[in-house]
Amino acid sequence: MNKIWLCLAHMGGQEQKFIQEAFDTNWVVPLGPNVDGFEHDLEEWFGKNAGHSIHVVALASGTSAIHLGLIMLGVEKGDEVICQSFTFSASANPIVYQGATPVFVDSEPGTWDMDPTLLETAIKDRIAKTGKKPKAIIPVYLYGNPGRIAEIMEIANRYEIPVLEDAAEAFGSEYNGQKCGTFGKYGVLSFNGNKMITTSGGGALICPTEEDAKRVKFYATQAREPFPYYQHEKIGYNYRLSNVCAGIGRGQMLVADEHIAHHRHIHGRYVKELNIKGITVFTPNADKESNPNYWLSTILVNPKEAGFTCSDLMNYLATKNIESRLLWKPMHLQPVYQNAPAYVNGTAEKLFNQGLCLPSGPMVSDKNVDYILKQIQDFSTNFNQ
Ligand SMILES: *Cc1c(COP(=O)(O)O)cnc(C)c1O
Repeated sequence: MNKIWLCLAHMGGQEQKFIQEAFDTNWVVPLGPNVDGFEHDLEEWFGKNAGHSIHVVALASGTSAIHLGLIMLGVEKGDEVICQSFTFSASANPIVYQGATPVFVDSEPGTWDMDPTLLETAIKDRIAKTGKKPKAIIPVYLYGNPGRIAEIMEIANRYEIPVLEDAAEAFGSEYNGQKCGTFGKYGVLSFNGNKMITTSGGGALICPTEEDAKRVKFYATQAREPFPYYQHEKIGYNYRLSNVCAGIGRGQMLVADEHIAHHRHIHGRYVKELNIKGITVFTPNADKESNPNYWLSTILVNPKEAGFTCSDLMNYLATKNIESRLLWKPMHLQPVYQNAPAYVNGTAEKLFNQGLCLPSGPMVSDKNVDYILKQIQDFSTNFNQ
């Protein structure tokens, strides 16, 4: 049996056509019609029910989108930026690129995303300790879960702190019918190989106005001023998505709905069929408005009840050619961030110690799920004999 991977890219079939077009028209140079087309597709997709206009800039990665978002918000040396602790390091690293300091806020157990109460505690305490407000808030939709974005927006608006949503894992997730990535001032998308849709590598920044989008494009193309020669008044970056990669993105947009439906289907099967003592399949206990994309299906293993740990299970599944992975290790526990202020309630650390991601991508078939379920069942039975 071939190895079952956590989340492999899946091509719908039309991607080659868009790439071929780029070659045929000699638009292999960085920008071109596929970039415009892909941005347009994303604007249509995210604009639905956003309640405001949407302007999307296609970029080289989700990480570069976060970086440019912070630049647009004026984050600089000496500033503090609040970031969810339970996430991938790419959510926080660009704060440091800007010479600013991340302030980590823990999650709440019901949704695994930023705890709004703790967020407000952190804001108040930073103001008391430093005399100024944090410059931005980065909530993350972990594993595609919309979390408590309405409450986070209410707090952010009350303190007048802009929100940069890290929706890298949440393509297609909705809250109250509105797409994740359209709630804050800026929204970040990733099209890395393992995300909901891919351009092999890429990302995008969702902006509130045409003017903002223009400014993002300016920074993403080396900050060239409109002169007949190369004139620079700002530090720029080479962060645009290439026209070839954008062609893959246009093809992926044609199958985005199918991908999301497949991820939700697999999660539904785990929920229904994984009935083992000590194992719970995570379904966020958020408001009914919340509609996750279930990018990755996750489980918690209670070692006292199950008789084994999530690492035991992960190692066993590996011997059966099944890739699974421990949950993200929280940023406040990372050696590189040991000196960053953190507001912690123990949730992310507990989840990190007990949780596992199971194969969830569009390349995971129903037969694969049958096999995975059987291996987990066998392991549990044998381990407890
Ligand atoms: C993947 C990811 C990113 C970074 O996106 P890249 O395209 O890989 O740079 C940022 N935040 C989260 C939560 C992610 O999962």
